[in-house]
Amino acid sequence: MYILSRVLLSVKPLFLLTMLLPSYIDIHTHQEDTGPDTFALKNRYDRFELIADGQYYSLGLHPWYLHDLATQMDLLERYAADSKVLAIGECGLDKVCPTPWPLQEKAFRLQSALAERLNKPLIIHCVRAYTEVMALLKGVRVPVILHGFQKKPELAAALLQQGYYLSFGKALLENKVQAASSLATMPPDRFFLETDDMDLPVEKIYGAAVRIRKTGADALILQLQKNFKTVFAL
Ligand SMILES: [Zn+2]
Repeated sequence: MYILSRVLLSVKPLFLLTMLLPSYIDIHTHQEDTGPDTFALKNRYDRFELIADGQYYSLGLHPWYLHDLATQMDLLERYAADSKVLAIGECGLDKVCPTPWPLQEKAFRLQSALAERLNKPLIIHCVRAYTEVMALLKGVRVPVILHGFQKKPELAAALLQQGYYLSFGKALLENKVQAASSLATMPPDRFFLETDDMDLPVEKIYGAAVRIRKTGADALILQLQKNFKTVFAL
């Protein structure tokens, strides 16, 4: 079963051509070690020089940690083109953090433009700013993944309408009703799962998703591998 659930990732970028995709995909994590059964897209919001060979990353300037934008963008641009960096982010807008709004918007705009220039997907952090995020992403053509989604199905539908992907994580383990009903109604080809800042295997989130979507574990594994392949086949 384990072997059957592995698929050969036949997509660009070239370095991924021969890679066997492990069973589980953790699309957004801050963990260093996620084990051999998981393909993890590791997020870094600083110390970009720490990206290591054999690992894959999303690099971005988090709205919580913006201070000297010009210097931070310089650093990000220096590392973002690296082939180990599969996505830009998390970046975005957050209405409950103290970072000045104009600075958040500017950082988000610059990073969206960088993602477009490099043709890499964007991973978005969004807190109470969905309207503003959608407005700012107008015209962006790279795939967009909104991470940590836990809002109601009506909002999920509006975001799907824009062509975005949604990623679900800890809210599923906390029995958050809105997150669960959104996940239950997601089209299979438009979502991902993640651990974010949790210190547990993404397998646990898969378990919750299997229960919520009333699907089989193997079907879910294959579907998310397919979604990964679609989004990162740039
Ligand atoms: Zn995160």
